[in-house]
Amino acid sequence: MGKQAKAVVCREWNKPVVVETIEVESPKRGEVMVKIGACGVCHSDLSATNGTIPLPPPLVLGHEAAGKIVEVGEGVTDIAVGDTVIVSWIPTCGKCRFCVMGQPQLCDVSAKATVTLPDGTSRLKDKDGKTLNHFAGAGVMAEYATLHRDSVIKIDPSIGLDKAAIVGCAVMTGAGAALNTARVQPGSSCVVIGAGGVGLNAIQGCAIAGAKQIIAVDTSDKKLEFARTFGATDTINPSTDGDPVGKILAATGGGADYAFECIGLGATIQQAYNCIRKGGTAVVVGVSKPTETVTLGAFLMPFTEKVLTGSMYGGARPSVDFPRLLDLYKAGRLKLDELVTATYRIDDAPRAFDDLVAGVNARGVIVF
Ligand SMILES: [Zn+2]
Ligand SMILES: [Zn+2]
Repeated sequence: MGKQAKAVVCREWNKPVVVETIEVESPKRGEVMVKIGACGVCHSDLSATNGTIPLPPPLVLGHEAAGKIVEVGEGVTDIAVGDTVIVSWIPTCGKCRFCVMGQPQLCDVSAKATVTLPDGTSRLKDKDGKTLNHFAGAGVMAEYATLHRDSVIKIDPSIGLDKAAIVGCAVMTGAGAALNTARVQPGSSCVVIGAGGVGLNAIQGCAIAGAKQIIAVDTSDKKLEFARTFGATDTINPSTDGDPVGKILAATGGGADYAFECIGLGATIQQAYNCIRKGGTAVVVGVSKPTETVTLGAFLMPFTEKVLTGSMYGGARPSVDFPRLLDLYKAGRLKLDELVTATYRIDDAPRAFDDLVAGVNARGVIVF
């Protein structure tokens, strides 16, 4: 049976999000319905509301959630009603060549689930019966969500759902960029450009990996304060300290071992590449506009052997990494409590988005 649910919807780009009551259809074969307990407000949700991520509205927002299974579709035998889950915004199929070759974050099937479930259809309707799109194949900023079974990962039910939710995007993407994509080595020097929800997790990923020096770069002193809490050893605010590249080259004795760009701008990707040492690795984590470009000097490329790579969802292997990250939390090595600096009721979602724009939170989370 379908469910009525309050949901946060982007109706039109560059307009405030709206909270409306929608219809969430029952799970079909191979699907599950989740009663959402908490959903983080991620910068990507904001990017969907202003066309930076150009997915067509109307979109039910949200891709960073945790909750409990309330219904399973035909053929779902390995997860049951009552199980606690984190939503993964990549439903990895386990069968395509990327999944088989160990890069499930690049799964061909999940790449098709951008505004629908992997079968290309939506389970969401508005009060007039019109179809709504699932943002990022999820659409979980709502009281209920119907998702592909491969979009949910069963977890230890003792973890608070607000903490579990943020593992599904910010933590996985940021910490995973350091731990999975770059494989940061103990004793290394790291730079993280952009200390928002993802950047803070890149910082703590570097700290967990044993980096000795972690330089956070952001134009907000408030975010740099958060950065220190998550393990940054040095901070640079380009709006008062000037161009960060020269300062980083000096502070690291010729360049950092790793740099993580967590904003999604050509200029800061350029900074990330320019501030690493010979043979260093620069990782692009931030999602830019489709029209954004990067200009890099070509002459030194062969001489410096720098690596520039992207990191999709922190190289997530969700079924392995989500429980692993929660184990690090339980062991006191991964900070989640400190990340959730505000919680909101769903009716206050517009304020949660305003707070995201103002940069007042490490992470704001809507709790149901
Ligand atoms: Zn796949
Ligand atoms: Zn996200």
